[in-house]
Amino acid sequence: MPDNHRSRLLIVSNRLPLKVVPGTDGKATFEPGSGGLVTALAPVLRNRGGTWIGWPGVNAEQLPDYLPELMEQAGAKLGYRIRPVSLTQKDVKLFYEGFSNEVLWPIFHDFPSLAKFDPAYWDAYRAVNRKYAEAVAEHSRPGDFIWIHDYQLMLVAEECRKLGVDGRFSFFLHIPFPSLGMFLKIPWRTEILRALLAYDLLGVQTAWDRRNLMECVRSLIPEVAWRGRGRVASTSLEGRDVRIGDFPISIDYRGFMRQAKNQPVLQMVQAIRKNLTGRTVILGVDRLDYTKGILYRLAAFHNALVRYPELREKTTLVQAAVPSRTGVPQYKRLRARIERMVGRINGQFTRPGWIPVHYIFRSLSREELLGYYRAADIALITPLKDGMNLIAKEYCVTNVDNDGVLILSEFAGAASQLQIGALLVNPFDVMGTADAVYRACKMPANERKSRMRKMRAAIRKQDVFWWVDSFLRSAIAKDLSGFPALDEYSPLTPAEAVET
Ligand code: UDP
Repeated sequence: MPDNHRSRLLIVSNRLPLKVVPGTDGKATFEPGSGGLVTALAPVLRNRGGTWIGWPGVNAEQLPDYLPELMEQAGAKLGYRIRPVSLTQKDVKLFYEGFSNEVLWPIFHDFPSLAKFDPAYWDAYRAVNRKYAEAVAEHSRPGDFIWIHDYQLMLVAEECRKLGVDGRFSFFLHIPFPSLGMFLKIPWRTEILRALLAYDLLGVQTAWDRRNLMECVRSLIPEVAWRGRGRVASTSLEGRDVRIGDFPISIDYRGFMRQAKNQPVLQMVQAIRKNLTGRTVILGVDRLDYTKGILYRLAAFHNALVRYPELREKTTLVQAAVPSRTGVPQYKRLRARIERMVGRINGQFTRPGWIPVHYIFRSLSREELLGYYRAADIALITPLKDGMNLIAKEYCVTNVDNDGVLILSEFAGAASQLQIGALLVNPFDVMGTADAVYRACKMPANERKSRMRKMRAAIRKQDVFWWVDSFLRSAIAKDLSGFPALDEYSPLTPAEAVET
């Protein structure tokens, strides 16, 4: 952040960057979060005397009496203030599992048939967004810079303004923004858009998302006229400027590079490869979610084995499915279908000494995850729709030997940056994806190297620290000339792309 700006930074997200672990004695401990967002924001929060506001992950009913004390301890350890928002079990059910995950998640990922437009969900969404706004009102000072994250909290700025909070409000949407046709299905579509316009800066992952959001506003709130071309647009509304830009989130490039070379990771690679000697290892890693396209991917691998017999006994697909929303019937059914399909492929093709699909259903330790990335010859990442997909970037960055191939869905946000080196596929096209698998298996070493180098250079240039910095600079700048970092979005020239 520029030095002339000394106002404090407040981060607001659905969950706090820590995990509260309730104990048996009515007390609890906490484990700090370790995701890329936390890593990137922590230094800024520490330098700016920042605060993180969010739900600690336990319901108000389960909260130990000393939660405020625990949060103080967490703040002291993390180096910035932690302020919890208290949610009841009913809030979690209706606001989080309901509106967030049964309305916004399916619609924003193009699965309208899975959406459940229950008016009680909407009421809870508004009420809980108000709770977060009240927490902001309590913990902010005039002029603070307030950065709200993701689809669960789209109404917070509007609620804050109603409460008279004096601050600058920015929002970043981590998931895709849907097309107009999809967005129109939401009964509360205009209320949501009006609430989004209460922010001063709206950040999305890709140019597609930005165009979709602008088109929805144009269609539903015609008095809003966007100015500016290219990656940033703005409009004036009730004497305020509202800007919109795309800021592709990324990962800690150096951190991943470093960890990829650690001894425990190398030992893990050896253990993984031990039983796969001489085989081409294809890797899929995803939360078990219907947006990730695991069934289509399995179908594509099956298709590749049918149509390219030479791949049999020579290729192995390792599919790790990380448990997610396991209490939701939709997700239980998906798991059962995936496991049936794995069984069917293995039943049809397994031969002595070769099992085509290795299936893992659990979360992986960091060493294991990086071990699989490094052991894999090909990453097959084919979400049907994804805001960014960090797995794709993590695979490339840990591929320090530049010999892996990334097959990537064109519907992942990451495709806009990684198309320079990935084999892009339409994940619904089973035959096309199977052909890409075959092509990746046959790709000469020099082509693999040149493609991987380009992708790694792109991620290095736009890592998660670049993302935080460019977003904050853009948010703080008063006019469009305050978007210098966005110049870097132009595609890398081949010379730039070659890693030094
Ligand atoms: N990840 C994890 N444990 C695992 C597998 C993956 O923590 O067992 C992490 C992975 O490192 C990545 C994130 O989960 O940072 C997945 O992010 P992505 O954007 O690909 O998908 P999301 O799950 O957020 O939809």
